[in-house]
Amino acid sequence: MIAPLIKSSLEVICGPMFSGKSEELIRRLRRAHYAKLSVAVFKHQLDDRTAIDHVASHNGTLLAAQPIRSAHELEPFIFGETQVIGIDEVQFFDLEIINVICKLIARGKRVIVAGLDLDFKRRPFGPMPTLLAIADEVTKLKAICLECGTDAHFTQRLVDGAPAQYHDPVVMVGAQEQYQARCRNCHRIDLQPPF
Ligand code: ADP
Ligand code: ZN
Repeated sequence: MIAPLIKSSLEVICGPMFSGKSEELIRRLRRAHYAKLSVAVFKHQLDDRTAIDHVASHNGTLLAAQPIRSAHELEPFIFGETQVIGIDEVQFFDLEIINVICKLIARGKRVIVAGLDLDFKRRPFGPMPTLLAIADEVTKLKAICLECGTDAHFTQRLVDGAPAQYHDPVVMVGAQEQYQARCRNCHRIDLQPPF
């Protein structure tokens, strides 16, 4: 079989935690692999203590990925023959990732990214608003609200079992942190988010 020609594009998969973003990213990348396309997979590495070298879905599915911490680290892994590029946890990159992705599209690549559209404060997350605006295709997934079982668009941060406060530090030393999918009614935060 000869690998099919691809159309350069940006696909964005977004939604709250547990909505199946990684699952959907893995599904699309596996299909590209079956089509014999040359695929490169990346995942944002949040800190230098853990280099997680795979995209992992909460359903247990794994796909090997190159961990990187900045947009510039991605480019040396992209070759002329690379056709499809997947990036997980794209919300953690700074805005430079937008330029890097635009350059990849200009070089004829199909780019598929997955990321949280909103943070736990329900604020648009990092580069996501721009990526969503420039995307050729957007998939907004929903999880199931752990409180009431309806569709969940938001991510609830819990610290020692209680809803996190708006101004809590991102890293709380010694605290037990947990994240849940919640609907608009069940999402709790002490300051009213804009949306
Ligand atoms: P994401 O990348 O959006 O965090 P994952 O692909 O990692 O999502 O996980 C999706 C999987 O998580 C689902 O297929 C399901 O098996 C599991 N899951 C666990 N909790 C929930 C929930 N509250 N709502 C939906 N799926 C959930
Ligand atoms: Zn709910």
